[in-house]
Amino acid sequence: MLALEAAQRLEDASPQDVLRWAADTFGDRFVVSSSMGDGVLASLAASVVPGVEVVFLDTGYHFAETLGTRDAVAQVYDVRVRTVLPLLTVAQQDAEHGPELWRRDPDACCAMRKVEPLARALWGYEAYASGIRRDESPTRAGTPVVEWDERRGLVKVNPIVRWSQDDVDAYVARHGVLVNPLVHEGYPSIGCAPCTRRVAPGEDLRAGRWAGSDKTECGLHA
Ligand code: SF4
Repeated sequence: MLALEAAQRLEDASPQDVLRWAADTFGDRFVVSSSMGDGVLASLAASVVPGVEVVFLDTGYHFAETLGTRDAVAQVYDVRVRTVLPLLTVAQQDAEHGPELWRRDPDACCAMRKVEPLARALWGYEAYASGIRRDESPTRAGTPVVEWDERRGLVKVNPIVRWSQDDVDAYVARHGVLVNPLVHEGYPSIGCAPCTRRVAPGEDLRAGRWAGSDKTECGLHA
């Protein structure tokens, strides 16, 4: 009910006002999550909720540029970046489940390397922010600004959900925000290296994720 009311009230609010509402409502039970495609959400959060914790899931399969972006975000913005690891290293997962599980059963791989670690990272919190946007894919087009995350029993806040890529680019340019260098090399959406490819001009922003399969989401947001 709280999420539904907030979603209606904040539909036209700025990302900063959405973050302010979350901080005022949940205090230190509010955390931000970031995949480190850029520092936009960290920058916005730092401006409104200085010192807020930013959770980053290190799957063990990230591009070096993504880990570098995480380190830079931790240095530049007034946030506390917390890196969360899966229970198994990649080597342990290979030994237990066979090599390249991402190729044979990406849902199982994402469950172990993303979904479970996020659930663990969010334990004890009441609300978390994500940087998902409606324009990223048809599956995200109906995402509200605030929603009840039934699976995790948390309020999920999506401060930039209404932003387009142009809005993001304008914010990045205006504030000199850190961006993962891969974005400028044809990767508008960046996940694990084995499951991310470049996209062609005009393709969906997330077309490079799990390309060649019918998988479109890792299970964190859908
Ligand atoms: Fe595994 Fe690919 Fe999911 Fe990363 S995106 S957790 S490598 S299946």
